[in-house]
Formats: sequence, structure tokens, C-alpha cells
Amino acid sequence: MSEDDNIKVQSLSRFFILMLLKSETSITGYSILKRLDKDLHTTASPTYVYDFLNKLKVEGYIEDVPTPKSKRSKGFKLTSSGFEFVDRIFSRFDNLIEVAIKSKLKICASCGVKLYEDFHVELFHGKELNFCCKHCAKAYIDSYHK
Ligand SMILES: [Zn+2]
Repeated sequence: MSEDDNIKVQSLSRFFILMLLKSETSITGYSILKRLDKDLHTTASPTYVYDFLNKLKVEGYIEDVPTPKSKRSKGFKLTSSGFEFVDRIFSRFDNLIEVAIKSKLKICASCGVKLYEDFHVELFHGKELNFCCKHCAKAYIDSYHK
């Protein structure tokens, strides 16, 4: 796994484009623009989209799909290294989402149950401790006074 990919994916639009490339067998720049507008309510400029597609192409992550019927619409599809690249990016986002959730998550100091919104806070030796309920708080504090 390399951490120094030449293409940075820091924007939702780019992430979305990669998702489209992965879910469709092939997709045109025009369809990408339409989907960005429809699904993401983002108006990305054609330059932005084609610039990104071009970068992916230069890296060998996507290739042109020959479309014999139409001369003007050119589709793109992921290459095998493109699939690896997308999976790498996706797994990084997975980790980010996990971290984001975990940072919000509190745990009952007594029983270890995960706490979301409703929980009991008790001041103990000058420290705020989180508990799932008053009973857990009492059990915890009592165990210190035995
Ligand atoms: Zn508890």
C-alpha cells in the first residue's frame, strides 16, 4: 500500500467521480457532470471534471472506451490499477469515518457500554466521568470507597 499516490482526493466531487467510475461499467464526462448536479447538487465545471479524468488517465487508472455508435461521447472505465487506486482511497475514507464516529463516542466508565446522546456525567476526583446510568455511576464510585 503506497501512501504517496500522485492524485489527491480531498474533495467530495472527486470522491464521487471515483465512486461513479467504480459502479458503472463505463461513464462519459458528460454523465459525470449530470450526476454531480443531480445526486450531489454540485455544479462542477466541465474543466474540473475533465481535468481530474485526464489526471486519472495519465496515471493509467482509467482508459477510453471506444464507442462506435457515437463520435462525440467518449466513455471511460477503470483499469485494474484504477480499481486498486479507488479501493485504496475508499479504505482511507472508511478509516476517516470510523475515527469521526469514535471521537464522538463515549464509554461508560463503569460497565464499558457505548454512550451516544443520553448519558450520566458525574464529577469524580475533579474529573468528569461518563456513565450509562446513575446506578453505574454509584457502583463505580462505591467501588472506590470500599
Ligand atoms: Zn454503565
